[in-house]
Amino acid sequence: IIRVEGLRKSFGEREVLRGIDLEVAAGEVVVVIGPSGCGKSTLLRCLNHLESPTQGRIWLRGELLGLREKDGRLVPRPEAEVDRQRTHIGMVFQRFNLFPHMTALGNIIEAPMRVKGLSRAQAEERGLRLLERVGLLDRKDEYPARLSGGQQQRVAIARALAMEPEVMLFDEATSALDPELADEVLQVMQDLAREGMTMLVVTHEMGFAREVAHRVIIMDAGVVLEQGPPSVIFTRPTQPRTREFLRKVL
Ligand code: ATP
Ligand code: MG
Repeated sequence: IIRVEGLRKSFGEREVLRGIDLEVAAGEVVVVIGPSGCGKSTLLRCLNHLESPTQGRIWLRGELLGLREKDGRLVPRPEAEVDRQRTHIGMVFQRFNLFPHMTALGNIIEAPMRVKGLSRAQAEERGLRLLERVGLLDRKDEYPARLSGGQQQRVAIARALAMEPEVMLFDEATSALDPELADEVLQVMQDLAREGMTMLVVTHEMGFAREVAHRVIIMDAGVVLEQGPPSVIFTRPTQPRTREFLRKVL
């Protein structure tokens, strides 16, 4: 469902992604780990076209992301098309960026109404179903400031799901949370994985990687160092740099 070929991304002189090739199949749960600054967030941001690649191509559902062919050349897609492509990918960040002036339900129904043209009644029906799914139906009228970090993050997940994405990206969605609150968010992520959602997850939660991931990718300095099923990566990594990294985080 996602294919990345030769992805490079520089900020000025600094090359942060140095040639990433990656495929994610529908229904696959892929966990990305690696040292701080190795380019994990930049990779996810490229997949959502929040950053445009310096080089390389990304296909989403067989469609080139951010680019299209015109007279045999690749040219940038119009912004409206990029927005449409983006609706297929949901993203949840470390910091819960809920709209502070909207209730939990308000946060969830906003984009489906504005972008997908759902009526308020349709959007609310979907929103309530999602709030129930993340265990927050009883908090639907609460404003973000009155929700715990874990609750806010679960609303953020529900908000992303309301657009019915085919892929969900998580960038350290639990790093800012106390362990207990992190667990309730991880549980929601695990349920989502069980239901067959395609997920690309950047996390420090090695328990989640071990139990939920189909595949673990180790990144280092802008490249994929190695990848494989967690049972192999965590017990028999082939790269010395992986061993060194795992020694610090396990
Ligand atoms: P962490 O684990 O700390 O979140 P990361 O693997 O997510 O790290 P990135 O956030 O992708 O790393 O950043 C990789 C490098 O790119 C860093 O050196 C960072 O300073 C740099 N970088 C990221 N975004 C920008 C930007 N918009 N402009 C300039 N440099 C950037
Ligand atoms: Mg990051």
